[in-house]
Amino acid sequence: MEGFDLNKLVRESVRKLQPYSSARDEYVSDGSEMLFLDANENPFDNGVNRYPDPYQRSLKSVLAKQKGVSESQILLGNGSDEVLDLIFRVFCEPNQDNVITLPPTYGMYKVLAGINAIKNREVLLTADFEPNVEEILKAADSHSKLIFICSPNNPTGNSFKGEYIKTLLESFDGLVVVDEAYIDFSKDESWVSALQTYPNLIVTQTLSKAYGLAGIRLGICYASEEIVSVLNKIKPPYNVNQLTQQRALQRVLNQDLVKQEVQQILDERTELIKALNNLEFVSVIYPTDANFVLAKVDDANKRYQQLLEKQVVVRNRSTQPLCENTLRFTVGTPEENKKLIAILKELN
Ligand SMILES: *Cc1c(COP(=O)(O)O)cnc(C)c1O
Repeated sequence: MEGFDLNKLVRESVRKLQPYSSARDEYVSDGSEMLFLDANENPFDNGVNRYPDPYQRSLKSVLAKQKGVSESQILLGNGSDEVLDLIFRVFCEPNQDNVITLPPTYGMYKVLAGINAIKNREVLLTADFEPNVEEILKAADSHSKLIFICSPNNPTGNSFKGEYIKTLLESFDGLVVVDEAYIDFSKDESWVSALQTYPNLIVTQTLSKAYGLAGIRLGICYASEEIVSVLNKIKPPYNVNQLTQQRALQRVLNQDLVKQEVQQILDERTELIKALNNLEFVSVIYPTDANFVLAKVDDANKRYQQLLEKQVVVRNRSTQPLCENTLRFTVGTPEENKKLIAILKELN
């Protein structure tokens, strides 16, 4: 990756921006007894009367150790959705630049492109749900700033072949964003370990899935220090609130519990796949590396409605390209899974 120049990819307005400097930016506590009279906070302690750490240092120090990166290679946001939006706003000039996405995939990339007035060039996955590298590179031009690669992919569930992602990292002139929302369910290694090799790589993860904290909104971006520092320039100063920082820290320190829950979910996934295999109205069960299973059925609308009548809500993905008559089942608790399987067996 010789000659990579991040500045060429950053929007001019962001390059020139003088970021907002908060009270907590200007004076960082050294832990000694200080009187903080600088931020117009209410002084009476109720646990959250102070502004949160804008750089979430305690949480980042744990994540950095666990992932083998430096704290300055981490940016945290209000869910990955905020992180992805920040990436758009740093690199993509409205009404001028474009991004490349690979449907069927996570719907937010397209929505964020729309919000930011960025053209979304869609290059369909191949029939076996892999990136079509040749077509992707053909679709790219000098205004293509980002490629979004979701692996394991939502809604298909599979991880993409590493060699395809590697080729894109080596051949695409913009940044490659690998969305690893489901990486903790996968046997594959995270792309975080490749950050040293590829200055054009951004990896996003989240505490919303395997970590069981969708309600606190904590998304994570791992990238080069250079990329993280430009994202920091535009992020809202206090984008990750105090309660979220505390709950996230507790949870990432409790790896044993997270791993135990992930293993249970994977065991239940095996049971669910077995049951789906025995159903006459299910014709394909797609390989999954995530906490959900995509299945092709005889009539997705009909099966969706039947399940709804039994108070089971699954996701009908039939409107997505290559996903005609598919339903996506999230793996629930053992009790929920048992219920679902019993109901599925009764459908006719
Ligand atoms: C669920 C999901 C996310 C998570 O988004 P958050 O905003 O962190 O909750 C990100 N990417 C994909 C592909 C997902 O399926």
